[in-house]
Amino acid sequence: MSKLPPDPPDAVASARREIDDADREILRVLGRRFAAVRRIAALKGAEPGRAFFDEGREREILERWAATARGLELPEPFVQDMLREILRHSKRVQEPLMPRERGNERRRTRPRVAIQGIAASNSALAVTRLFATRATRGAEPVFAETFAEAVEALQEGRVDYALLPVENSISGIILDVHRLICDGTLHAVDEEVLVLRHVLAARPGSSLERILTVRSHPAALAQCTRFLRNTGLRCEPWFDTAGAAESLASAPESTAAICSPEAAELHGLDVLARDLADHDSSETRFLLLSTRAETPDVRLPCRTTVFFRLNHHEGALARILQVFAEHGANLLRIESRPQVDHPWEYGFLVDLEGHGEEAHLAEALRRARRYCNHLRVVGTYPRRARPSESRPRIAGPPRAARRPAPQPEAPPRTPALLTDLAPDRKRTTVRVGSTSIGPDAFTLIAGPCAVETREQVLAAAAIVRRAGGAILRGGAYKPRTSPYSFQGLGVEGLRYLEEAGAAHGLPVVTEVVRIENIPDVLAHADMIQVGARNMQNFPLLKELGAVDRPILLKRGMSATLKELLLAAEYILSAGNQQVVLCERGIRTFETATRSTLDLSAIPVLRRRTHLPIIVDPSHAAGDRELVTPLAVAAAAAGADGLIVETHPEPERALCDRDQALTPAGLEEMVEAVGAVLAAQGRAWR
Ligand code: PEP
Ligand code: MN
Repeated sequence: MSKLPPDPPDAVASARREIDDADREILRVLGRRFAAVRRIAALKGAEPGRAFFDEGREREILERWAATARGLELPEPFVQDMLREILRHSKRVQEPLMPRERGNERRRTRPRVAIQGIAASNSALAVTRLFATRATRGAEPVFAETFAEAVEALQEGRVDYALLPVENSISGIILDVHRLICDGTLHAVDEEVLVLRHVLAARPGSSLERILTVRSHPAALAQCTRFLRNTGLRCEPWFDTAGAAESLASAPESTAAICSPEAAELHGLDVLARDLADHDSSETRFLLLSTRAETPDVRLPCRTTVFFRLNHHEGALARILQVFAEHGANLLRIESRPQVDHPWEYGFLVDLEGHGEEAHLAEALRRARRYCNHLRVVGTYPRRARPSESRPRIAGPPRAARRPAPQPEAPPRTPALLTDLAPDRKRTTVRVGSTSIGPDAFTLIAGPCAVETREQVLAAAAIVRRAGGAILRGGAYKPRTSPYSFQGLGVEGLRYLEEAGAAHGLPVVTEVVRIENIPDVLAHADMIQVGARNMQNFPLLKELGAVDRPILLKRGMSATLKELLLAAEYILSAGNQQVVLCERGIRTFETATRSTLDLSAIPVLRRRTHLPIIVDPSHAAGDRELVTPLAVAAAAAGADGLIVETHPEPERALCDRDQALTPAGLEEMVEAVGAVLAAQGRAWR
């Protein structure tokens, strides 16, 4: 066959000029298209009720493009891919223009974003990609060696966000990050998906034949097994793909790196081979984490991540999944996480399609809480990983129509409360460290009103242990009626309390009076008390709903039982289902006692709620001689336990001196109550 004559050089040059012109034209036209997209976003943003994305119109555009493409002899799948890319970017360009997004902007300057890795690592590339369309239009990556260090930087306020990889489409979840998300309290505020491109890079002038060793991040090596097997190269794990590229400057000439093309370029390396991954597409999904929640506009297509721990009722997981299904909440992913404090129990991280404020999802989450000890919405954020879009899309009914019709009994007119004792609901057992409070036994919490000294609380713990108490109490932050009274030792007191509990094998409960104290209390206590004076401190209650620690909620001295239950509802509805109610006496016209113990609260609450109910006879009476008779009455009326004050030397107590039981008094009370319990067929825990 004869060769074709070569094109005259000026013909090639002229074709190239034409290509360059066409490219410029394409970019100009794209610029015009995105300007119009931004204009529309601003108009739609001003109309809160209006749908942001119109799937019907999207389908129309797709069909129009397909028809035009046929006339121009352009392959349809290619044109569709391009359009999909443009539409995806259009959505992202619009997001920061929505009113709610503007509210989320903390600062106009470039935020600092911690990542694991260095410049040109995949995490750094993900930062560039994500922030190109966020309101701040750019961010400054801050490099950390490990995921934990990136999170530490965030918690210490050295950065505004951390962007961490959560899963890869080939190798699955990234365990260290999964753990940080499940066990922490960080909020997920955005998502990015990066298509990984693995190349083999080596020092300039090198060739594939001369390479013997390849270094890279273990995850990258694991994604290129076929290439590594075929070439027989020796693998050397490195902390980061870009770090491996950087290290070649001082490595033997026979060493190469698997990294991104960007990292190869940054470090002046030659690319010896491309597309090394075992599968066509290796994608990594990253989450942008923050210490504060940011809620996107409810009209954006979103993903909602939720972490929950089940309560111990049979079939709780199945029922939660059923609740999701009944409410048309599409489950995208479920992962389990062992609970470090409770061996062989698990928490679950689930991703749901949709915005947490959409009615069907909000209702599903509300109902799911009934089967949990704790449920935390990790975040609602714009959804960028959309597997359905990588397949050719066939016109189907719009998203909303695919949702099952709402269940006829789904939204009751007065929504049931989470505190309600529904017919199918068992009474709740609240676990406190190694012990619990609930229907199967009678629990004694005892200890001094306030932690005064290390010695005092150690002695009190020994007394409580000897008397058979299950939990040690002691206040480190005291809500005193008079500002001149002893206010508590604060963190020092928390430390003594924790030490005393540990020394005598007792979990500890202590009061929190301000939101700012919660982290310290969490660091030292097994249970958190909300005192009578704070029962309706709603911001505090909401904050405690977000923590995963049992709460002892005391009845306000002039609160009705309905108000007490609604205060508990604040905690439950914010995620934390582990609440114990405490009747501690109310203000009446009677002055013979400090308060009046409302014994009827016990059977009334029992009828209305599944939550455990305990009684505090010490604060009700204000008089140590009345504590035992009231404690006996509380047990007789069906309480689940008691909280009483005791002091090694009551006459020297700095706080509530008159009501503190002596060590002998405590033992007498335990015996007297024990007789009632025995008569009821119950026993001390
Ligand atoms: C306490 O338990 O020490 C206390 C202050 O109780 P109350 O909030 O019931 O007064
Ligand atoms: Mn007290």
